[in-house]
Formats: sequence, C-alpha cells, structure tokens
Amino acid sequence: MTDTTDVIVIGAGAAGLMCAMQAGRRGRTVRVIDHARRPGRKILMSGGGHCNFTNEDVRAEHYLSHNPHFCKSALSRFSQWDFIELVRRHGIAFSRREHGQLFCDEGSGRILEMLLAECRQAGVALGMETEIEAVSRLGERRFALHTNQGIYECASLVVATGGLSIPGSGASGLGFEIARQFEIQVWPLAPGLVPLTLQPKDKERLADLAGIAVEAAVRCGKKQFRDPLLFTHRGLSGPAILQISLEWQPGQEIGIDLLPELNLAEELEAQRQHHPRRALKSALAERLPKRLAAVMAPPEWADIPLARLSSAQVQQIATGIQQWRLKPGGTEGYRTAEVTLGGVDCDALSSKTMEARAVPGLFFIGEVVDITGRLGGYNLQWAWSSGWCAGQYV
Ligand SMILES: Cc1cc2nc3c(=O)[nH]c(=O)nc-3n(C[C@H](O)[C@H](O)[C@H](O)COP(=O)(O)OP(=O)(O)OC[C@H]3O[C@@H](n4cnc5c(N)ncnc54)[C@H](O)[C@@H]3O)c2cc1C
Repeated sequence: MTDTTDVIVIGAGAAGLMCAMQAGRRGRTVRVIDHARRPGRKILMSGGGHCNFTNEDVRAEHYLSHNPHFCKSALSRFSQWDFIELVRRHGIAFSRREHGQLFCDEGSGRILEMLLAECRQAGVALGMETEIEAVSRLGERRFALHTNQGIYECASLVVATGGLSIPGSGASGLGFEIARQFEIQVWPLAPGLVPLTLQPKDKERLADLAGIAVEAAVRCGKKQFRDPLLFTHRGLSGPAILQISLEWQPGQEIGIDLLPELNLAEELEAQRQHHPRRALKSALAERLPKRLAAVMAPPEWADIPLARLSSAQVQQIATGIQQWRLKPGGTEGYRTAEVTLGGVDCDALSSKTMEARAVPGLFFIGEVVDITGRLGGYNLQWAWSSGWCAGQYV
C-alpha cells in the first residue's frame, strides 16, 4: 500500500516538528516519519532537562559554517522573538540565565508538548518506529520512501535527521547519506560542544581534581571564552571547554587562565610582603580550590615559603597558572557531544527556503545542515528558524 501526502518530514526533532506544524497550518498534508520510539529526544535532553530553547542575542557570529552568511536569512525571518512569542502563547514559564540564555522553568517536556500540540492542531500525522530502507526520486517534485511500514510518496521531502551525537537518542547518518545520494556535498563531520580528554601524562597529574569547577578563560587560536571549567575523570569539561571544542583541532594546544580576574604575580608579591612564611601552595589556595592549588604549584616549590621565591620564580608560577598551555588528547566524541560540526553544504541550498538548488522538492533543515551554533540556545534556534522557513515553502 502506498500512502501519499504533500509533505514528508524525516525526523521528529526540533526542526522537523517546527517545519511540519508550519506546513500543516498552510493546509498541506504532512507526515513526519522517525525511527525512534518517541519524538523529540534531544529536546528533552537539552539544557540539562530545562531546554535552553533560544538566546536573547542571536547573530550570525554565534554560528560556525563554511558559509558564514547562510544562516542570516532564516534567523531574521523566524527570530528568537518569534519563538519566545510562541512559548508565551502556550503559557510556558521561562527564565533568563547568564549570556541571555532562556531556559524552560518546568522542564524541556513543555517545549516538546507545545510542538506536538501545534502539530496535532495542524493535522500532522506522526509515524514513529518507522525504519527508512530507501529514498528515491520518482520525477520532478515526486519522492518515494520505502520503509518497514510501507511506501510513502510525497511532493516535498524534508530531511530533518539531525547530527550524529548521542547515538542512543535516535541519531543516524541518514540525512548525510540522502544528501550524497543526490550529489550534494557534505562537509566533514566532527563532534562539537564536547568535553576534551587529556594526554596520559596530564591525566595522571590532574586525576585528583575530578569534580572541581573554576571560572576560567580558555583560548584556542584567536577565540577565547570565559566561563566555568570543570575537571572530570576523563579530562576537561564545563561551558568554557565545550565552547572551545568548536575551535580546537587535534594536535593543537589550548591556553587556560585559571584566575582570569587577577594578576597572580602581583597577588603573590603582595602576599609575600604580608605573609613571607606562607608556603606557595597555601598562598595559591587563597585564590584557587585547595586541591587545584596543590597540583598547579610546581612540586619543587610547593612547600617553600614565599619569602624564598625570587621575583622571576613568582612570575614563572603565575605564568603556569594564567597562561597554562595544554595539549588535549582528543574529545569524548559523539557519545557526549551536543552537536555535529560540518554537514550538508549550505551552498547547495536556498537560504530562503532550505530547498536543494539542484533537486526541487528536497529540503534540509536543522543540525544536518553545515550550521553549528555555539553554546547558549543557538542550535535550537537554528532548528526553529530553518524549520519555519522550509515550512513556508514545502
Ligand atoms: C545533551 C544535549 C543537550 C543539548 N542542549 C541544547 C540546548 O540546551 N540548547 C540548544 O540550543 N541546543 C542544545 N542541544 C543541541 C540541540 O538539541 C540540537 O542541535 C537540535 O535538537 C537539532 O535539532 P534537529 O531537529 O536538527 O535534530 P534532532 O532534534 O536531533 O532530531 C532528529 C530526529 O531525526 C530522527 N532520525 C535520525 N535518523 C533517522 C533515521 N535514519 N530514520 C528516521 N528518523 C531518524 C531522530 O530520531 C530524531 O528524532 C543539545 C544537544 C544534546 C545532545
């Protein structure tokens, strides 16, 4: 049996549901197909369960892409304010946190419920646990999907399959395969917004620090982020590290300032004046968590009174803590990454409609596209904006 609708959206995630509800509202018949048991798994996981659904300050600079201008059109046509208006209309309470990030007070489930309610109202059919076996093009604006539930045909096919991160969440590479099948370039993929692991020597040295969090400035190349840094059993995490993971390339060093608000050399000189008999590691513990101070103090000087350290040594110690250079071993990979860098080439798509230029009727939206937001609600905003745009044209 063949089921025919105007639109098929592959992927019941953030972008797919937004696109489906928009298309449904326009009177299009829409079916969303997903192989997972439940829709919107990543929405539920997002923001530590409180869905950082957007940011008050959304600009193209908050996104990485081989085409840095591509995202501008969608982000301005369906902006953070449009999504906030939708959230308000559904009576969902939210709060503003640092850097303009907006989080759901009652949990991510409220955002998913909102999208599903909108889809229901717009008459969207939702087919979960549907495995896609093949996608074929029958002619101009005519596609067929062969699945374990039968054959589905449509005039507009929207690929909203997301990225590769968190394999248990329903993530798959299907969207990238469909792009390649239609000879659309896919930029190399890599895990992003991901904790960094350490080289064995550093891992051993920092092993006792797991659980410690400090405010730090972390630098890689020309980019610097000042946010919390967390020491873990496997390496380094926390917002500052997740942000820098988008810049970091294997083999590169990162620079860490563990006391970004302070001139540590001046601080140690001052302590030397007033507390000359204080041991170096105790002096450092005035500003850093004790365990971290003990590790960052060079072992040969850790127990030496400040009075016995020369100015050059003080400077050297301060440099080690404020310009700490570290070569990460790698990343934790897709297992814990929040996003996938790279993806479907923007140049192959219309920035207004998200339709593939060379394949009329085929659309790509959300994370499958080569647009990666920084930490702070930008990835979901891209999903809403790109989904909304495609929803106007499918
Ligand atoms: C732990 C975590 C926390 C995050 N927190 C935030 C946050 O707070 N703010 C923010 O902006 N971003 C956050 N993100 C990123 C954000 O969730 C994603 O960028 C966003 O969900 C992407 O939306 P999407 O619709 O493109 O893809 P997804 O939401 O991933 O949806 C893709 C859908 O496609 C389906 N699918 C995949 N392959 C197939 C297939 N072969 N057949 C059928 N269906 C398929 C999947 O089952 C899934 O339902 C977080 C990500 C993670 C992993």
